[in-house]
Amino acid sequence: MIQTDALVIGAGPVGLFQAFQLGLLGLKVEVVDVLPQAGGQCMALYPDKPIYDVPGVPRCTGRELTGLLLQQASPFLPIDAETGRRQHLHLGHLVESIEAAADGSWLVGGSGGWRCQARALVVSAGAGAFVPRGLGVAALDGAHNVSHHLPDADGPDHAAALPTTALTPHLVAPPWAGQHLVVAGGGEEALSAVLAIAHAPHPEHRPARLSLLHRRDAFQAEPQQEAAVRELIAQGRVQLVIGLPQAAQREGDRVSALELLGADGQVHTLAFDHLLVRLGLSPKLGPLTQWGLDLERKQVRVDTATFASSQAGVHAVGDINTYPGKKRLLLCGFHEATLAAHAIATALQPDAPPHLLYTTTSPVLHQRLGV
Ligand SMILES: Cc1cc2nc3c(=O)[nH]c(=O)nc-3n(C[C@H](O)[C@H](O)[C@H](O)COP(=O)(O)OP(=O)(O)OC[C@H]3O[C@@H](n4cnc5c(N)ncnc54)[C@H](O)[C@@H]3O)c2cc1C
Repeated sequence: MIQTDALVIGAGPVGLFQAFQLGLLGLKVEVVDVLPQAGGQCMALYPDKPIYDVPGVPRCTGRELTGLLLQQASPFLPIDAETGRRQHLHLGHLVESIEAAADGSWLVGGSGGWRCQARALVVSAGAGAFVPRGLGVAALDGAHNVSHHLPDADGPDHAAALPTTALTPHLVAPPWAGQHLVVAGGGEEALSAVLAIAHAPHPEHRPARLSLLHRRDAFQAEPQQEAAVRELIAQGRVQLVIGLPQAAQREGDRVSALELLGADGQVHTLAFDHLLVRLGLSPKLGPLTQWGLDLERKQVRVDTATFASSQAGVHAVGDINTYPGKKRLLLCGFHEATLAAHAIATALQPDAPPHLLYTTTSPVLHQRLGV
């Protein structure tokens, strides 16, 4: 059971800035997200598209913004020198339940037995937990050789200009290294995965054989991206397989082949070692609706002075909340996170001096930031 002052549920852009603000105010903070990487919508929906309206940042991509937010939060979510992973950032856990404890804290339960006790919660869950879209073949569920995400090498830390020496040695070989990998999908997610895998910087991390499975010979991606994948197909480095998955051959906890309905009306078998399904992610509000929070059209109603929800000690910031005049913009979420952090600090540190400290001039803040 992790014990902390504040738990941030959702590592999207607003959740990451929330962690920074809470840390800056001297609170111990943990962040949890169901995805294997931080960044929320910025990484899941538009990693390489430009954003033009973050104050002071004339242009950056979703991936770059996530990298900068992680870099900014580094004093409170530092990279572990041993593992190369960020401390206090718990990825791959769906928060399922929150329960009020007798002492006023919150007991939080997540997938995989993840548990945390926090004196305050901040829900920064966006439009909900991002879950991957599947191929609609039941036999694939829970199979150990079916994935939906690329390993960390694709993550935002690499766009943050962090010292690569701190990260590169820890890159783990993907589960498909040296095997026959099938990537399923025909959109940007699938094509970008094919390009990243085919051009993996460590040749030993590449699959021995790479196939791209799509239901037709047409892609929904940027022309440049499509041209690069078509080039790999022409070179024989990627095999294009056209077919509609109907069923899968399961052997224990593994899937050995997909049965595909081909354009010729026949069923063909596609054998593989590993399947990477890249059909995009969709947000599911799911468990959050059971947490006893006052909701309005699936969003958490908040007080705009503190961003407190209807439950004492539970705040909501970013796209998940609603109030008169609400705009689902990054800038608004960052403002909300700042006020929520101050309200939480006031509640948890009643003896702390109430005056505002500036990062420019405060030695206390400099010490917390390690500058
Ligand atoms: C295509 C597109 C372009 C955009 N362009 C702009 C722009 O130019 N400027 C701008 O200001 N805004 C833009 N936005 C909006 C902006 O991306 C959102 O306002 C912002 O991402 C909201 O951040 P957030 O942290 O609140 O939520 P999100 O980014 O949605 O992150 C929420 C995170 O919480 C996680 N989560 C949710 N529930 C759980 C749970 N139960 N357990 C564990 N994890 C959970 C999710 O997996 C997710 O990672 C754009 C949005 C889109 C889709």
